Amino acid sequence: MTSQNFDPVEVAALQQETVDANVADAVAAFAAARSLDELKTAGLAHDGDRSPLALANREIGALPPAARSAAGKRLGPARGAVRKALAARQVELEAERDARVLVDEAVDVTLPTDRQRSGARHPLTTVQELVGDVFVAMGWEIAEGPEAEGAWFNFDALNTPPEHPSRDLSDTFWVGSAGSGVVLRTQTSPVQIRTMLEQRPPIYVVCPGKVFRTDELDATHTPVFHQVEGLAVDEGLTMAHLKGTLDHMAEAMFGPGIVTRLRPHYFPFTEPSAEMDLVCFVCRGESVGNPDRPCRTCSSEGWIEWGGCGMVDPRVLTACGIDPERYSGFAFGMGIERTLMFRSGVADMRDIVEGDVRFTQAFGVES
Ligand SMILES: [Zn+2]
Repeated sequence: MTSQNFDPVEVAALQQETVDANVADAVAAFAAARSLDELKTAGLAHDGDRSPLALANREIGALPPAARSAAGKRLGPARGAVRKALAARQVELEAERDARVLVDEAVDVTLPTDRQRSGARHPLTTVQELVGDVFVAMGWEIAEGPEAEGAWFNFDALNTPPEHPSRDLSDTFWVGSAGSGVVLRTQTSPVQIRTMLEQRPPIYVVCPGKVFRTDELDATHTPVFHQVEGLAVDEGLTMAHLKGTLDHMAEAMFGPGIVTRLRPHYFPFTEPSAEMDLVCFVCRGESVGNPDRPCRTCSSEGWIEWGGCGMVDPRVLTACGIDPERYSGFAFGMGIERTLMFRSGVADMRDIVEGDVRFTQAFGVES
């Protein structure tokens, strides 16, 4: 150990030349470091606990009190200079690394890519499920049926007379010959018939699905489209229940305050029957009689047609073995494509059916 009369000048590690040389070594080593890892190693060697300057610093404590100050004044600035050089090189190397990352990870948008794109669910599916959710939340069930359907289910059981033009080849896809008795269903109503034959009231079902008609594909028609129908059969059901159900669904699909209006109409399956309109969800009726605020969505009529509905014809109940004296029912149906067009401002039916993934992705991935 050091003696009481120790002369600091004799401690080699504390001599000015040694200290200066250590500083110079450290600065040179930092400058030579080509990466942050190398700099870390150099930093430990020249500024760590076992570095020459740190070891020299320990010697100060062993000096006579009178000598400590002078030694400290040599060593303190030296260690400060080393740390400053280390920090400066750290900043330089980090900047180099960041610049390199920018270059390495830059995306050349003109290059071809083989990256797999993530898909998105078709918005028709999303809307269909949303409708299902609205009704399931009210305790209804979802019912499904075959797409190739018996003509009896598709027409006869729904009170469609044998000579009705909708049975024609110009409207209906017959599977096999026109007399085969099998059609691609033209509506989802046969699912209602199947449900009434299989279940006893109370019945509350919604039936979403594909339907088929011999339409040419254009901006507002497609030979394959989607409907959702609802059927309720219970004791004491009236048109008030129908109206309340439709209003609830309209609000769930289009927002608060969007209600429905019923206009008398004719469908073979229901009596009385009505066409169903929605309050225009764009102008909410304010364009009516207001030439300053015309509305393209509803042609300034305040209402837009959404679907059809009515009270189930007692003859249909009877055909399904349900006593119309005891039970009554209501039914409604609307097109899913039409609902999607309203909800999302899709102007052309062809965009929905053509299967271009860019159309689907525009709706994002909804969970
Ligand atoms: Zn409008």
